[in-house]
Amino acid sequence: MKRYYFDHAATTPLDRRVLEAMMPYLTECYANPSSSHAMGREACRAVDEARDGIARLLGRKPKEVYFTSGGTEADNWALKGAALANRERGRHILISAFEHPAVFESASFLQKQGYEVELIPVRADGIVDLTALSSLLREDTCLVAVMSANNEVGTIQPLAEIATLVHEKGALFFTDAVQAMGELPAFDGADLLSFSSHKLYGPKGVGALVVGGGVKLERLHHGGMQERSLRGGTTPTAQIVGFSKAFSLACAEREDRTKRVRSLRDRFLKGILSLPGTALNGDGEKRLASNANIFFEGRNGQALLNKFDLAGICASAGSACTSGAVHPSHTLLAMGKEKEASSSIRFSFGKDNTETEIDEVLSIIETLLSPVRTKNISS
Ligand code: PLP
Repeated sequence: MKRYYFDHAATTPLDRRVLEAMMPYLTECYANPSSSHAMGREACRAVDEARDGIARLLGRKPKEVYFTSGGTEADNWALKGAALANRERGRHILISAFEHPAVFESASFLQKQGYEVELIPVRADGIVDLTALSSLLREDTCLVAVMSANNEVGTIQPLAEIATLVHEKGALFFTDAVQAMGELPAFDGADLLSFSSHKLYGPKGVGALVVGGGVKLERLHHGGMQERSLRGGTTPTAQIVGFSKAFSLACAEREDRTKRVRSLRDRFLKGILSLPGTALNGDGEKRLASNANIFFEGRNGQALLNKFDLAGICASAGSACTSGAVHPSHTLLAMGKEKEASSSIRFSFGKDNTETEIDEVLSIIETLLSPVRTKNISS
């Protein structure tokens, strides 16, 4: 069966050019970058070059880039590491109401350790409420976390305005840029920023936490002296080289990729929104070019997703199915979209999708959604 991959917000395929860049570090230059011998030094040089490359593209210093195992670890580190290292400033933390579970669960953990965590409300269009943020900020707020772009509805957050409000109060600003980084220029006004390689056609299992100069951070991974003694663990050279290559391709090709993906997404939207009982979730303009989150009125999102899956369409429902029970999407609930929360599906497009795929999927969906026709025996 032909498969249609419209789930790039979940993960992207590895770019062949990235694989080529990684191969020597999987097969020949496999030594531990911490080893002092010639082969170790060669691997160490590759890691240094990868870090320099990423830092240059971010407009940061190489020592501000810490490699992690991905976005989840970087989010955990940002929240827990910053909260622990800056507790003399206060124990009040603000996170947006629709953060990724990596941020949400880290904040819940901190709450159990005696921190006070409050949620910044999100408007119905999927944008954080700035007026509410202003009134929630306090003298003892140590950290504020707002993602750069939401992973379900793709809405892009007003980072510059948020950073200004947070910094006026003297708190630290952390943004989870895991979804945004492949599509948007890096935001340079955050104290902490996380991103992940596998969302931008790089390998899985590697990401980064970017930490501004002077920002105090507690180490979470105790072990060796890697990552300037802040994160122990053998450095995965090939993954880091691949991550750096993928990020440099994403930056160099950003304009072309975005133009192409936006045009595919808009073609899809035109078709799908012409079907009765459908609507777009989240702001129509302030959203990632790759994202279309669609409400299918009166349908169960998980059941529809299963139907799509059987027809070869790979997409995602924000509502999660655990032990047979379907939980509504926490993102849509945060936006006050109760009806939509169990009846919506995220389609996320990538640089290698085609117009033909869009048209074929639209036609499959139209057939799947059309009411079952019963045969009229008498006719
Ligand atoms: N943050 C956001 C916004 C995400 O979308 C994801 C993954 O979907 C993560 C964090 C976790 O990243 P990783 O899969 O690299 O652990």
